[in-house]
Amino acid sequence: MTKQNEQYAVLNNTLKYAMDYLNKLEYDDVCATKSLESLRQDLNKPLNTYGESADTVISELVKDVDGGLLGSAGGRFFAWVIGGCIPAALAADWLTSTWDQNAALYACSPAEAVIEEVVGEWLKTILGLPQLSSFAITTGCQMAHFTCLATARNALLKKHSWDVEVKGLSGAPQIYILTNKLLHASVERAARFLGLGSESIKPLEINESGQLKLDSLQIALEEFKGKPVIVQLCAGDINTGVYDNFNEIIPLAHAYNAWVHVDGAFGLWANASNKYCHMLNGVEYADSWATDGHKWLNIPYDCGYAFVKNNEAHKASMSLRASYLTHADTARDQFDWNPEWSRRGRGVPTYAAIRQLGTNGIADLIERCCQYAHRLTIGIGKLKGAEIIWEPTINQGLIRFVNPQIPYTEQENDAFTDLVINKINASGKLFVGGTTWNGRRCMRISVCGWQTTEADIEMSIKAVAEVLDNLLSNNKSHSLDSSKL
Ligand SMILES: *Cc1c(COP(=O)(O)O)cnc(C)c1O
Repeated sequence: MTKQNEQYAVLNNTLKYAMDYLNKLEYDDVCATKSLESLRQDLNKPLNTYGESADTVISELVKDVDGGLLGSAGGRFFAWVIGGCIPAALAADWLTSTWDQNAALYACSPAEAVIEEVVGEWLKTILGLPQLSSFAITTGCQMAHFTCLATARNALLKKHSWDVEVKGLSGAPQIYILTNKLLHASVERAARFLGLGSESIKPLEINESGQLKLDSLQIALEEFKGKPVIVQLCAGDINTGVYDNFNEIIPLAHAYNAWVHVDGAFGLWANASNKYCHMLNGVEYADSWATDGHKWLNIPYDCGYAFVKNNEAHKASMSLRASYLTHADTARDQFDWNPEWSRRGRGVPTYAAIRQLGTNGIADLIERCCQYAHRLTIGIGKLKGAEIIWEPTINQGLIRFVNPQIPYTEQENDAFTDLVINKINASGKLFVGGTTWNGRRCMRISVCGWQTTEADIEMSIKAVAEVLDNLLSNNKSHSLDSSKL
């Protein structure tokens, strides 16, 4: 076979495999059905010496992963905050691999550098962030936190006449991170990567809605007065979707010269909707923001975005110069703004997604997900044995399962909740997550996939009802020993 023929054959077959997979999402089990042992057995081929045809590799790959993939690209996947992949974004991702550009700097791929420039401006408009902010397209929100906090580290220590990029942290003034105690672990990890250490994080009290308490923050800001301080805020808590009160908190933090960073991995996207954007009032006054493309925008992994008001500190913390590189004077070199060197042209799927959806389409996607999360939570909450713990204000809901027939202890209901979650997932009809919230086990519902429809919501409620009926009808004989779950 000629090189062209071989490429054509494998790509042509891959289109078929891709369509088979996408079509199957509608009726196939949402959970994985293949065991760890089988996956290892099938995928762990003997390391081959002479190579195989591209078509053999791909056809066997498709066969071997079958049953080992979760239906997270489909309409009934509600665990974690994952989202699917809209068609233009998927196609653009294929092309990104086809073009195989190094999106490190303008000289390596002029078109991809310009695409990122355009995408950055669009995103600031959609997310309601200051138009003069600098930005970076990262692998995810984790690395967006890293980028933003590296910038904060630079700017805060500069005020203490300390050039952290030159001197490092040894001997530098200690930086403190004051935060809502529900902090996402990715922020803690970013702090660790940056040498700030997890002990620099001071979790503060929250009010009954889960928002950082103004008076706790005030006390902490007094305690660390004159020191370099980052105030870490939340735009969309991972369990409840709660937002900190930016209008109250940010001016207070700034009165103490603190840097304000916002984790808006998915929640920042509510700013795209007129119906939900009020929850983000005042968020534009922060100093940096981190969010994701691969969650609510429904583009493929890996894609996150960092935005920073202080462009100079952002560039100072990330940029580099090397003698063998060609640096652009007028164009934007991506690696001046993000932590990677060689990198994928990950602005391309974002570009395609925003064009396919338009701002109305993005608003519609956000509103639809919120509406479905609400309906799903209420629908399940009405079933015998279910209790709503958090009624969604955006796209996140919490349910606890309690046995209505026997008075159970909280611990037994924790085990019962986990049992119900496992049975729901094993049904293959929908997939949900579990969490511990306020000390109790809950089922977590997150709706952020573009594929979810009303029919999916109705089907899911029915499937949960069946699971509960089955469990409660043979309840007396049912062991709730958690070791057997
Ligand atoms: C998912 C998530 C993160 C981490 O983002 P990645 O894209 O997985 O790196 C951070 N914060 C919140 C609130 C999240 O939901």
